[in-house]
Formats: sequence, C-alpha cells, structure tokens
Amino acid sequence: MRPGRSLLPPISLRPRASPARHGNPPIQQHHATTTHRLFSQTALRSADFTHAVIGGGVVGLAIARELALRSNHDGASRSSTPSSSSNSSSSTLLLERHAAVGTETSSRNSEVIHAGIYYGASSLKTALCIQGKALLYHYCASHGVPHRRVGKWIVAQTSTQRAALQAVHDFCTREIHVPVRWVGADEAARREPAVRADAGILESPTTGIVDSHALMVSLLGQFEDAGGTLALGSKVEAVAPLGGGDGSAGWELAVRDAATGELSTVTAETIINSAGLGAVDIHNMIVPPDRRKKMFYAKGNYFSYAASSPKVGTLVYPAPEPGHGGLGTHLTIDMGGRIKFGPDVEWVDSPDDLAVNESRLALTAKEVKKYLPDLDETQLQPDYAGIRPKLAKQGAVAHGKGFVDFVIQKEEGYQGWINLLNIESPGLTSCLAIAERVRKLLYT
Ligand SMILES: Cc1cc2nc3c(=O)[nH]c(=O)nc-3n(C[C@H](O)[C@H](O)[C@H](O)COP(=O)(O)OP(=O)(O)OC[C@H]3O[C@@H](n4cnc5c(N)ncnc54)[C@H](O)[C@@H]3O)c2cc1C
Repeated sequence: MRPGRSLLPPISLRPRASPARHGNPPIQQHHATTTHRLFSQTALRSADFTHAVIGGGVVGLAIARELALRSNHDGASRSSTPSSSSNSSSSTLLLERHAAVGTETSSRNSEVIHAGIYYGASSLKTALCIQGKALLYHYCASHGVPHRRVGKWIVAQTSTQRAALQAVHDFCTREIHVPVRWVGADEAARREPAVRADAGILESPTTGIVDSHALMVSLLGQFEDAGGTLALGSKVEAVAPLGGGDGSAGWELAVRDAATGELSTVTAETIINSAGLGAVDIHNMIVPPDRRKKMFYAKGNYFSYAASSPKVGTLVYPAPEPGHGGLGTHLTIDMGGRIKFGPDVEWVDSPDDLAVNESRLALTAKEVKKYLPDLDETQLQPDYAGIRPKLAKQGAVAHGKGFVDFVIQKEEGYQGWINLLNIESPGLTSCLAIAERVRKLLYT
C-alpha cells in the first residue's frame, strides 16, 4: 500500500498457518518463519506489489511460488514487464481470506495425481494435467513431498462400459500418448482379488497419490523463502482497474482484515484471480454487468472405510460416463493406506454447504459394490466433502454434454489480469503447470 494512497490504515500481515487438513492428521510442519510486514514497506515505487495473487489454495500457492522464484532468478533481466514499472526486481503478494492457506477445495479432494486421460486432446485440462503430472512427480521427489505411483484401474461391468474403456484406451495410445494397458483376468485375480470387473480393466500406471497438505506446506515455504509476502485473514472485497479502467496503471484491491474488520487498500501492477470457489465473485467485481458469470457448485461427498477387508492397493474407478459431473464414485487410498470412497456429485446452492450428506451413503455403497462386492457397508463413515467450482452444470469428461475446460487467460480489455475460472479436477495435479502458464501469460 503506498503512503498517501490508502483509504484506510494499512493491514498488517498475519502470521502464516499451515494448510488445514480435513480427515487426515498433519504429517509435518514447515519451519515457521513468520512474516510481519506492512504493505507500505514494499520497495516498489509505482505499486505496492508487482503481483497480487488472490487465493491461497494449491493453485494460488503454486502461482505465487512461481512468480516469486522468477523475480529472484531473473527479475533484473526481464525483457518484457507487465506494466511500465522501471523496478529491476518484482514482489509477490498472496492474499488468502482464511487464517490458513489451503482450507477450501485444495484440502477436500481425492489427492490423486491424474494421468490426464479423460479430457479432449486439445483441452487445457489434458495439456496441463499431463505436464503437471510430470512436474508434480519431479517436485515431490526432489522436495520430500509424500507421494506414490500406485496406478489406477478403470473397471467395466457391461459391454457399454467396456466400449467406454476402449475409447479411453484409443485416445491415450493414438492421440495423447499417455500409457495405459489392459489387465487380464489372471493378473487381476492375482493383484486385486477383491475387485470385480466383469467386462475388463484398463490400467493407468502413471496415476498416483500425493499428500496435498505436505505439497501446500512445501510450496508455501518456497514462496516465503523467495521473498513472497503472505497475507492471511485478508479477504479481497473489491478490485478496481486503474488507468482509465483497464488496469494499464495497475490495480487497487480493497482487503478486509478478518481479525480487526478493517478495510484497507493495496495496489499491484498485476492481479491473478486464483480464488477457487470465490473466483467468479472476483471476476464479477471487475467486469461490466454483461460479462458477469455465475458459478455452479458440485459437491462431492466422501465416505471413509474402517474395515481391513476387502483390502485393495490400487485406485479403482468405474468407467467414465458422459455428462456425469465427476469421474464416478471411486476408491482412493491416502498416503497412510486409508481407503475412502467418493466423491459423488450433488449440486448445491452454496459454496459453504460442506457437511457430508449422509443420505448419500446408501447410494455410494450401491455404486461401490458394483466393483467391490464384498464391501461391508456398515463400516462406511461420512468423512468430508469438497465442492467443484463449475461454470456450468456440465460433465467432467471430454465427450459429455457441455464439457467446460479450465479458463486461464488474460481478460480482453484489461492489462495485467490473469483470470482462472473452473479450476476443478485435475487442478491439484496441474497446479505447477498452471503456474508456468500464468508466468508465460504475464511475461512472454
Ligand atoms: C471433490 C473433489 C475431488 C477432487 N479430486 C482431485 C484429484 O484427485 N486430483 C486433482 O488433480 N484434482 C482434484 N480436484 C480438484 C482440485 O482439488 C482443485 O482443482 C484445486 O484444489 C483447486 O485449487 P485452487 O487453489 O484453485 O482453489 P482453492 O483450494 O479453493 O483455493 C482458493 C482459495 O481462494 C481463497 N479465496 C476465495 N475468495 C477469496 C477472496 N475474495 N479473498 C481472498 N481469498 C479468497 C479461498 O479461501 C481459498 O483458500 C478435486 C476437487 C474436488 C471438489
């Protein structure tokens, strides 16, 4: 915040807290080097910060890290800048409304590293998932983030489902060159005797699992080590493009401090809207009424499984169904070996409707028993729920009606604004690739 520009006193940056965990105990804490700075202490002359990233989920964290590292490495030699700033280094502010990063969708998902096999060949979801998967495996291996390449089975019980698997197989082998293989009956019986698949199994060996909380702690640590500034408890309530209303002179954000209730302003040369379930609200704060959008909320309920049998060591998904809002109620395993089932698709009216809908348990058990007939449904417990931030009541796979891709773009008529909407699955897998894309959109 520039002295003399603020409408209200500057907000002080709140101590950072680790990502919340829904259902799983924390594994490790990053060393807590708490940052206490005021916005007005930044070095930039034209704006308080070069980049303001709105939203501290896994995607916002990955973007903020990418931009902060970039400024560390080549800030002095950048060839193109997002604005007319003459500073030789840049600064990045990450704004998060909650008291900790990663408490929304990023800690309420399946924690699966997807292979990228469900979306159209030319979609951003495919490109960023495949690239993101490679980046994520490499990142996890080199930064000690727990992960495992457990592989995944997609199972068919009928000839129609078998045809759906064949379509996935052909798409993977002919178009996107992602490895998949058929699993024969003998191998299936040997490896996963509890799993039923009357009409075939397609295996995706590059699918895996990751501890999303440890990943976010790691990304946050790197962001802070690179000099990034985290503002927790800082809800963005208004965003104004400066310079004739197109952002050519930067952006002004009104930020509410959750602890004091005070509203302050902060300026940045660029803004990145990575607010997940709040992203359409941010979008609508900026654009004229005819460009406003509506968000649809597709809740996914998860149920944990307390019994030790049947035991399964591979992720198991039903065949994809065109038009279905998710990938089907699947079996996932977390890094502790805990089995859970979900998510289903329940359209809800509010992004806060996060209580598990227990009435869904019977339906979940019915779906799961199709591929795990010996499931003891008395051992299913409501676990947690996450909400997919959708731009339409659309399907999750490429050939369904109304497939909507990730939106990651500069908005027409504005400068220095990268807008991220519809960052549903596979957003976790894609986070590092999304971050690279945002950097390239800003700097090339
Ligand atoms: C049920 C379910 C299962 C999924 N499974 C997988 C999976 O297995 N693999 C996979 O790759 N992906 C999966 N995903 C998708 C993945 O979880 C998301 O794409 C990813 O977490 C999105 O991260 P994000 O940072 O964009 O959003 P979020 O995690 O929602 O973060 C956005 C942040 O912005 C903050 N915010 C919002 N508004 C404001 C504001 N006005 N001011 C300040 N801060 C604000 C929020 O508090 C939040 O912390 C799943 C999603 C769901 C719902």
